[in-house]
Amino acid sequence: MSMVKSPQKTALVTGAGRGIGRAIALTLADAGFNVVINYARNKEAAQAVLSEIEQKGGRGLLVQGDIKQAEDRARLVGEAMQAFGRIDVLVNNAGVAPRERKDILEATEDIFDEVLATNIKGPYFLTQLVAREMIKIVESKAIEDYRPVIVNITSISASTVSTSRGEYCISKAGAAMITKLYAVRLAPYGIGVYEIRPGIIATDMTAAVKEKYDALFAQGITPIARWGLPEDVAKAVKAIVTGAFPYSTGEVIHVDGGFHLRVL
Ligand code: NAP
Repeated sequence: MSMVKSPQKTALVTGAGRGIGRAIALTLADAGFNVVINYARNKEAAQAVLSEIEQKGGRGLLVQGDIKQAEDRARLVGEAMQAFGRIDVLVNNAGVAPRERKDILEATEDIFDEVLATNIKGPYFLTQLVAREMIKIVESKAIEDYRPVIVNITSISASTVSTSRGEYCISKAGAAMITKLYAVRLAPYGIGVYEIRPGIIATDMTAAVKEKYDALFAQGITPIARWGLPEDVAKAVKAIVTGAFPYSTGEVIHVDGGFHLRVL
């Protein structure tokens, strides 16, 4: 069908300029995907990811867009469809930690609103838009062997209490429910929805608390005694989107060095 402009599968990765999103974008490009590289403010970093993909002969598309904003989400999906005519994979990766960590007895509404709009409202409604496009392709049978997948990057904070950043924990717990909701709603269309729950990963987000976490690793906070790397998360995304879990949906994959295990 003329609507489909690329024979290559296409992955849309939010927050793909830096950190975990960057590693996911580069890994999926290596796996043969066209990659839509979304970023919010840091154009230079996102441009560097695009250049790296193109240098290796891959295809990418840079789209600025704040996932908190409805118009930006619509433009992001519109530009992706315009360029490639298909979205096979959505990775809801973009997210923020609270600008300032405050005890929940001191927490303020502005930070709460910002964290929840970015980590819940953004992915919830972006998934809605992308799922509608995926369903159209499924129903039109325009692409042979079309197996769309949605991956949400949450956090160990979905189930771990940190009283100095309650809004972040709430947002990731909510994002975990987004996975379950869409897994059930989209299963009839053959769209798999998965959650990756990273532990402590070395990125800009954790750079400010590096010493604190270095000490925790030294004390044995994780059975696998090292920092997680963005590539550790990207490898899990690749396994999912290349079809390693065909009879699973709504599944949570921990990429946390075993942090979630209870030990006596
Ligand atoms: P990061 O290094 O701070 O990068 C965040 C990325 O998200 C950036 O590319 C940023 O874009 C983008 N972004 C932020 N707000 C956005 C918005 N409103 N619209 C679009 N893009 C936006 O973070 P990271 O550590 O890679 O984290 C990525 C995801 O993993 C987040 O959801 C985070 O909660 C989760 N996670 C991280 C860790 C960890 O230890 N690092 C652990 C568990 C889960 P710009 O470059 O334009 O600013």
